[in-house]
Amino acid sequence: MKKVVKFGGSSLASAEQFEKVGKIVKSDKNRVFVVPSAPGKRYDGDTKVTDMLYGAYSLAKEDKPFEKQLSAIKARYQEIIDGLKLSVSLDREFEEIKKNFMEKAGEDYAASRGEYLNGILMAAYLGYEFIDAATVIFFKEDGNLNSPKTQELLSEALKKAPRAVVPGFYGAYDNGVVHTFSRGGSDITGSLVAKACKADVYENWTDVSGFMVADPRIIDHPRSIETITYRELRELAYMGATVLHEEAIFPVRKEGIPINIRNTNAPDDDGTWIVESTCQKPKYVITGIAGKKGFCAINIEKDKMNSEIGFGRKVLQAFEEQEISFEHVPSGIDTMTVFVHQDDFAQKEQRVLAGIHKLAQPDYIDMETDLALIAVVGRGMRATRGTAGRIFSALAHANVNVKMIDQGSSELNIIIGVKNEDFEAAIRAIYTIFVDTQL
Ligand code: ASP
Repeated sequence: MKKVVKFGGSSLASAEQFEKVGKIVKSDKNRVFVVPSAPGKRYDGDTKVTDMLYGAYSLAKEDKPFEKQLSAIKARYQEIIDGLKLSVSLDREFEEIKKNFMEKAGEDYAASRGEYLNGILMAAYLGYEFIDAATVIFFKEDGNLNSPKTQELLSEALKKAPRAVVPGFYGAYDNGVVHTFSRGGSDITGSLVAKACKADVYENWTDVSGFMVADPRIIDHPRSIETITYRELRELAYMGATVLHEEAIFPVRKEGIPINIRNTNAPDDDGTWIVESTCQKPKYVITGIAGKKGFCAINIEKDKMNSEIGFGRKVLQAFEEQEISFEHVPSGIDTMTVFVHQDDFAQKEQRVLAGIHKLAQPDYIDMETDLALIAVVGRGMRATRGTAGRIFSALAHANVNVKMIDQGSSELNIIIGVKNEDFEAAIRAIYTIFVDTQL
């Protein structure tokens, strides 16, 4: 049994948090590879080390003094070293970072030092080997991951090191120049390490006990999700449920390695299991609810539209030409509606409308703004009659006017469009009917 354990920034923000992490790693001998983030916020209003590094480098880039900022970063690590009574000095590393900042080694290099330095401390603290991610994770020239090279070098390195720390978030181009994933990318590193060593489990330790059925900012103490499939997670993540980096599921998904989201501050909680598929029945008919505000619906009408071959394509072409991606396209006999992100659309609206007129000659176009989309997701919905009916009666009782309904053909999700101002009430109504009443 082999486990890869990734710890997020809040799990490593201070010596106290490091101690919790140490206990977690040592309590299970299968936790052989550790992927740390950079130290995160110690308290509300604190600054993550990654952001401090971006800040210091932005000064260096403009030839402004950055030493004070770099010292503040060094102090964050020193606090951890002292708190853990480690006999490690990062003096040499900071000299090197200073030199590289002056030589303008790049923003990615700067940001990556957060994980790099934390990896050195973590390895010393645990007595594990340190593997610099720049020697095992590689990117192609276009900035995308070089999967074959990474898989080869990473698995080779892991074979040689029975217990090791691989810092998250970064790798390098073939020429050795450091490159990072997007923010939160240590989750991807963890997934790559799990794939490369053929782990049995990828544990992702953070500061919440897994995914919640709904956003805790809307529902007070929502229930957590015990097991969720990769597909369900994709649907929820797309609609804004963020715990794990969106791209982190791909490397492990192909290998059938489950991800277990755990809470460093409550290590006895089971957390959420993210799996390929499962015969475990979800506790409720729905697995989760997520949503986003800020959509706009463009209604296009044309008599006998349904018999005009190519009409839909022409309408969508007008969006494509302005590089606007659409979210949903429900249609009727003489109408078609295109949902888009309002912010993207606002600056280009007149060009898109002109394009639709030119390409598709509709009779009439109108728009409805300030809409929210809500995804009700659940593998259990397929086998349960009346799910949609219950959603809509709950919404009617909550006085929410439903603007759009779209059930994916996988029957894994139902998307509902409502006015922005009804968003929270709609989520509460759906949560109550499925979770609180426990039917
Ligand atoms: N430290 C990086 C960030 O703040 C990457 C990570 O934590 O995963 O985005």
